[in-house]
Amino acid sequence: MKGRNAIVTGSTSGIGLAIARALAAEGCNVMLNGFGDAAAIEATRAQIAAEAATTVAYMDADLSHPAQVRALVEEAARRLGPIDILVNNAGVQHVAPLAEFPDEKWDLLLAVNLSAAFHASKAVIAGMSGRGFGRIVNIASALGLVGAPHKPAYVATKHGIIGLTKSIALEVAETGVTCNAVCPGMVMTPIIEMQVADQARVTGLPPEEVVRQVFLENQPIRRPVTAQEIAGAVVFLCSPAGSGVTGTALAVDGGYVAR
Ligand code: NAD
Repeated sequence: MKGRNAIVTGSTSGIGLAIARALAAEGCNVMLNGFGDAAAIEATRAQIAAEAATTVAYMDADLSHPAQVRALVEEAARRLGPIDILVNNAGVQHVAPLAEFPDEKWDLLLAVNLSAAFHASKAVIAGMSGRGFGRIVNIASALGLVGAPHKPAYVATKHGIIGLTKSIALEVAETGVTCNAVCPGMVMTPIIEMQVADQARVTGLPPEEVVRQVFLENQPIRRPVTAQEIAGAVVFLCSPAGSGVTGTALAVDGGYVAR
């Protein structure tokens, strides 16, 4: 994987950051993306670049806008070279009953969790198949495989991205390009920490009880999956050992969907 050029969307925090670190550690040049404090992001970028001795760039493209998704791919190719690996990881959540679910949140989740992966994949696919190598990895969710109440947009987008994954995989199956989804179970990252805090407020339970009773209830290993475990699956799919794997939805979910 040394010298491969990778884009990891939503990589300023959580799972995306772990994936970016892991790909850089394998020798990849990486384009980071996502929101956050500019100085903290620059410190992270510089640290990953120094540790891995690869090129690590950053662009703050807002992936809810298709033009910015395309600009991210263009900037990554300009800074790193032809794109070999695209990890569509950026994701947002909103939890509310259907009748109260804000229309603008539905539109936002569709744009970030699903449409951004379409636009980014569309922008890289011709180059990848033309060069005879490419890896597209979409970070879905266990909720791409099973449903959950009060998360209509999230569940719809995560099921949708698994469909997109299969369609792309089949279209380019003979070209050396693979496209797979990884389906994390509960990983303790800011997206979850916010929900834990909300639930703790609503239920009056201490945060650690909320995690145990609500978030780990359906996760048989009874601990969060780690971001590094998700990153390990992505590295496998991008490595030569993953060449024969395409169109799959790989659950890294502590047994969540086995029940
Ligand atoms: P996180 O909130 O820590 O990170 C999300 C990243 O996406 C951040 O870098 C954020 O800045 C970026 N982002 C958000 N909106 C964006 C936008 N409009 N444009 C560009 N970047 C944007 O969340 P995480 O838990 O690391 O989630 C990463 C992915 O994993 C998401 O797709 C999420 O749905 C999925 N996932 C997470 C869990 C979990 O338990 N944490 C479980 C299953 C799936």
